[in-house]
Amino acid sequence: MPVDATLPYDDQNIFAKILRGEIPNKTVYEDDFALAFHDINPQAPTHILVIPKGAYVSWDDFSSNAGEAEIAGFVRAVGKVAREAGYVEPGYRLLANTGPDSHQEVPHLHVHIFAGEPLGPMLAR
Ligand code: AMP
Repeated sequence: MPVDATLPYDDQNIFAKILRGEIPNKTVYEDDFALAFHDINPQAPTHILVIPKGAYVSWDDFSSNAGEAEIAGFVRAVGKVAREAGYVEPGYRLLANTGPDSHQEVPHLHVHIFAGEPLGPMLAR
């Protein structure tokens, strides 16, 4: 079910459960602001999700309501994960689905990192 990104945060969403350690994940990076783990249904040779540790429904919620340190920490974590995986030189793609038209499915902000092969056009048409 696509997410209504205007709804309040639901602390029973699957990524909230991952953050609380109630559901396993394949962690690739963690710091005070972010957790990065492999997507369970990868759409590219490398498909990593980076989520903020704070309770934010979407990019809209995060960019409106997160503090400066949280925003800086999260953005730096996304860059660090891609850099440390070696994807700066070959390139990578970031995606943050927000709301129904984007098909956002999990109501906790996540940035997808896709990499590992030429990724093709930006959007399927
Ligand atoms: P989105 O459509 O942008 O909300 O993407 C949600 C992503 O979460 C999809 O790529 C799913 O494959 C992924 N996903 C859902 N559940 C899990 C999980 N338990 N562990 C890792 N990735 C998950």
